[in-house]
Amino acid sequence: MKNSGKPASKGPKIIPRSAHGVSRDEVSKSALKVLYRLHKSGYQAFLVGGCVRDALVGLHPKDFDVATDATPDEVRALFSNCRLIGRRFRLAHVRFGREIIEVATFRAAANHADDDHAHDDEGRIIRDNVYGSIEEDVWRRDFTCNALYYNIADHSIWDFVGGAEDVKQKHIVLIGDADQRLREDPVRMLRAVRFAAKLEFTVDESVSKAIRNNVELLANVPAARLFDEFLKLFQAGHAERTFDMLREYGLFAQLFPAVDQEFAGDEAFADFVRAALRNTDKRVDAGKSVTPMFLLGVFFWAPARRLAAIRRSEEKMSESQALSLASYELAGQQQRRVSIPRRFTVPMREMIALQPRFTATRGKRAMNLLNHRRFRAAYDFMMLLAEVGQFDHELARFWTDVQERSPDDRAEAFQIHRNPRARRRSGRRKRRPKAGQSS
Ligand code: ATP
Ligand code: MG
Repeated sequence: MKNSGKPASKGPKIIPRSAHGVSRDEVSKSALKVLYRLHKSGYQAFLVGGCVRDALVGLHPKDFDVATDATPDEVRALFSNCRLIGRRFRLAHVRFGREIIEVATFRAAANHADDDHAHDDEGRIIRDNVYGSIEEDVWRRDFTCNALYYNIADHSIWDFVGGAEDVKQKHIVLIGDADQRLREDPVRMLRAVRFAAKLEFTVDESVSKAIRNNVELLANVPAARLFDEFLKLFQAGHAERTFDMLREYGLFAQLFPAVDQEFAGDEAFADFVRAALRNTDKRVDAGKSVTPMFLLGVFFWAPARRLAAIRRSEEKMSESQALSLASYELAGQQQRRVSIPRRFTVPMREMIALQPRFTATRGKRAMNLLNHRRFRAAYDFMMLLAEVGQFDHELARFWTDVQERSPDDRAEAFQIHRNPRARRRSGRRKRRPKAGQSS
């Protein structure tokens, strides 16, 4: 076994400034200020984690994590704009306007097999709160590519675990024993997929194997933490690739069991989901906003329709009512795995429940859909269904065109006749909205 979780006995490989591509121009002014002040005050100061990794592969890092040998109190003494957060393990947040630089004191890993109290029965870390040296800090990090330290003293990179080479080879490799590291914190399985999708790296065979052995452990992770992770997985601009990898590993089934079941007999549903993810990725790329409620609605669409049909066979209710009820039930079950805040589940239900109303295009009730507070999201959802051939194109065009019209024109489009005499004169009979399709 290589790197079996023991602290490094030899020093780091030091990559001088001239031999790596990380430029200070990629580092935010605020992060530089923090680093220089720590350094001038006699402390060690490094950038670490995602920012170094991303800069190395030529991406523009957006958030910067600093690691230092100064204690949180010592950090606070240096910066008036500093707040300490966290009870168990204290971190310093130094604020510059909207930007926050997180400053962490080097920590010792809790992964020594001789320390029984640091892990629970399944091997998860339950204690991780001892200050340490940089040599120790390395070992509590997850992947080699995330354990590169950029030293502000001379702009070199310190590499204790071969991270620079793994970045060059585009490999996601866990530090230490892969199986043990995943058991310590099963979220690392999702992180492996997330970084592989984002960086277009391959997950090393040792990590792949360990993931396949441990997928079930995700069930032990608090549902609230998985919601945070869900956001990072699906709103970082690489959702489609991430989704494919999650499914491949059986991780998606752990996160969204009811959704995953639907893929078995329904390739069309997978097509719809992938179209939505592609669309989300495009929006992220264009700097547009994305909301988790939309994607969650997409995930729950097939299961909600199936459950709605069952509920309708049990009790008389409209399709919209049944969809609303079904998505309520599904969201409830889902909370055990990934807890979704109500501010997302409530609009998600509304968006799903509005779908049947797009089939009705006559009358006041149909027209009122345009004024529904959830119209925009429901319309985008419907358009996506149309895009993958799962909603009528003519109807989709109607709803697109009608939004461009003036209020009077709209009434006409929905065949609403304000003056009943006019209708009598023209000899037309009163038409009702198509029966059975709207709720
Ligand atoms: P990004 O910010 O792009 O999501 P990141 O690598 O910066 O990627 P963060 O979650 O910001 O990820 O964490 C910062 C660093 O902290 C990581 O690079 C890693 O070294 C360490 N880290 C974070 N989460 C874990 C974890 N679950 N297990 C071990 N180390 C972790
Ligand atoms: Mg980060």
